[in-house]
Amino acid sequence: MRFYSFVSINNTIRLRQGELYARVSDLLEGAPEPVLHSIAHILLAKLYRKPVDRAQSARYRRYIGSHDITAKARLVRQMRGRKQIHSARGHHYDLEEIFEDLNRRFFHGLMGRPQLTWSLARARNRLGHYDPAHNTIVVSRVFDHPRVPRFVVEYILFHEMLHLKHPVKLRGTRRCVHSKEFLAEEKLFPNLDQAKQALNVI
Ligand SMILES: [Zn+2]
Repeated sequence: MRFYSFVSINNTIRLRQGELYARVSDLLEGAPEPVLHSIAHILLAKLYRKPVDRAQSARYRRYIGSHDITAKARLVRQMRGRKQIHSARGHHYDLEEIFEDLNRRFFHGLMGRPQLTWSLARARNRLGHYDPAHNTIVVSRVFDHPRVPRFVVEYILFHEMLHLKHPVKLRGTRRCVHSKEFLAEEKLFPNLDQAKQALNVI
């Protein structure tokens, strides 16, 4: 039996190619042995469409209904269902603080601060992007992590700041996203190679 993370207490069982798969909510982890036996009984009865033994179902309901587990379920539901706040301040890095630091170091403090936000999803394919329509720089939440060195976050933000400074040019029909001037200025970032290397392995 494995414990799976469910927002609500929800146990399932199914038979696949002769193997029995049971999913039991992790809220029941640490439940006393008799309760786990009751769950197993209930799941098996459901699987084989047999009546559920009343004593077993009563024991299970008694446990689920007990004060502790309902409170725990509510708490876990709150934590898991919590809306990710669209914000510059992550758990580990504050994009506004990094922006101002980069602004001072590379732009003489002259760049107007756009909206800065960590992405809602943990997008790995998109490190960051600048959305000119909303004047917003979005950085993938994947990088708001203690294992990610600060210079990596700095580089992603710096790159997007350069997009602000060097708007996309149309050269004939071709869009030039990273112009010569853009790339030359990007080279001013002191850990450029290391940052690019790190981003390949993250
Ligand atoms: Zn770019």
